[in-house]
Amino acid sequence: MMTDCLFCKIAAGEIPSAKVYEDEEILAFRDINPQAPVHILIIPKKHVASLAEVGEEDTALLGKIQVLTRKLAEQEGVAVSGFRIVSNSGPDSGQEVGHLHYHLMGGRDLMA
Ligand code: 5GP
Ligand code: ZN
Repeated sequence: MMTDCLFCKIAAGEIPSAKVYEDEEILAFRDINPQAPVHILIIPKKHVASLAEVGEEDTALLGKIQVLTRKLAEQEGVAVSGFRIVSNSGPDSGQEVGHLHYHLMGGRDLMA
């Protein structure tokens, strides 16, 4: 755990979050400033700074996150209506929190 990392603290339960899924490796919780009716953040519990830092050893973890994305989209009722996954990586993307996370957004027309 990185002691000065916000999402490490959320993953460790030191900072509360509205959890929607948790297992040993992955946590999903609601974004505090939602940009869509469904706006969930999916993170690995292990500290990885961004997609710019993933390695071969993360293949299984990233695959699990993708399958979890599908399950959460179903649970939240947006699997059919549509959803979007975004992972900002690095300064030009506007990444604000330096711990790998995927935004799962849906519940309205994301093209509007
Ligand atoms: P980024 O810009 O790094 O891709 O996205 C960071 C996201 O984290 C933003 O959508 C922001 O609203 C969310 N966020 C920042 N701080 C917190 C927090 O303490 N709790 C929760 N649940 N979300 C947060
Ligand atoms: Zn972290």
